[in-house]
Amino acid sequence: MSEPSHPLPLRGVRCGACGRTAFPAQEFGCEGCGAYGAGLEPVELTGHGTVLALLTVYEHPDPAVSTPATIAGVQLDEGPVLRARVSGVREAGVAVTAAADGNGLIFHSTNGAGAR
Ligand SMILES: [Zn+2]
Repeated sequence: MSEPSHPLPLRGVRCGACGRTAFPAQEFGCEGCGAYGAGLEPVELTGHGTVLALLTVYEHPDPAVSTPATIAGVQLDEGPVLRARVSGVREAGVAVTAAADGNGLIFHSTNGAGAR
């Protein structure tokens, strides 16, 4: 498992009215209660989450990404769900931690087991 090459870019917003966290950061308003953007506060997300589902792709639009690559839906501990590459994960339900490599965001198994 490699260490992040730069600080994680996981910046979201938290609603001051209902507490819902959204990712990526935006200024339009709360997805949960509809509060206006002024009610949203920037928040740095932990990068910890759980794999909801994953699949292997054999072609990627970015030629810099080597294939096959595993893409997963990850639910962050703060609530938002995002889609990103994962490494060392073969099934849903695994706890993952965000990192960054030369091609951007990638999640690794939190316990480090099964790393490729
Ligand atoms: Zn809200």
